[in-house]
Amino acid sequence: MELNDEQFHRYARHLILDEVGEEGQERLLASRVLVIGAGGLGSPLLLYLAAAGVGTLGIIDDDEVDLTNLQRQIAHGTASVGSSKVASAAESVARINPGIRVNRYEERLTAENAATLFADYDLIADGSDNFTTRYLVNDAAYLSGKPLVSGSLLRFEGQLATFRGGVPGHEGEPCYRCLFPTEPPPGMIPRCEEAGILGAVAGVIGTLQATEVLKELLDLGSSLSGHLLIYDALGPTFRKMKAARDPGCALCGTDPTIREIA
Ligand SMILES: [Zn+2]
Repeated sequence: MELNDEQFHRYARHLILDEVGEEGQERLLASRVLVIGAGGLGSPLLLYLAAAGVGTLGIIDDDEVDLTNLQRQIAHGTASVGSSKVASAAESVARINPGIRVNRYEERLTAENAATLFADYDLIADGSDNFTTRYLVNDAAYLSGKPLVSGSLLRFEGQLATFRGGVPGHEGEPCYRCLFPTEPPPGMIPRCEEAGILGAVAGVIGTLQATEVLKELLDLGSSLSGHLLIYDALGPTFRKMKAARDPGCALCGTDPTIREIA
């Protein structure tokens, strides 16, 4: 796929980066990324990936835009309150970059649809807001052999990690379950809706997530895989911690008990 005149202009600031260039831009345009959740993390993810020219974006979310979302979910506007988040986010993507193909999934990610959906993408970006989905995404990405860039938010903090132990050539890199073996009981760790979130923190983490997605697609710099990046807005501090594969992990350990999504 050769860049046309419009694309040479649109992506000019990428093209002058030696590390991206025409070849990198063509790679982005040929890339397919599935974004889970069109909320606080999904908004900056989708907007920056669209602006960057990631050619195909999948958006899955079963929610509608609520007035309380607008404090942080910048892909949506006041006029979209009451309409589907997927439709609203798809409109924002088209406004920024009409050349991007958007696949809309106005449904919930489930054990039934995850494997089929993931098979169609090069990379999964998780911006979901609950643990059940986060574990499901981790397991399905690992078993599908897809790299996963995962973000999470709470109050004034955010976390970011990349998992790609299921990708051929990256065996031995940890998965989400290696760091957090079991899903916390419902209600133990509150969601943003319950605990609150400083809106701009979602922008910081979602934008870092978009950056790591682009790095994975372009094979740039050091992958975040094998690390956990923690941002505390009040500090403000960034901490990068090492994370290792757990040989006893139920998913990627030496004797796994999770062999399929169920
Ligand atoms: Zn693991």
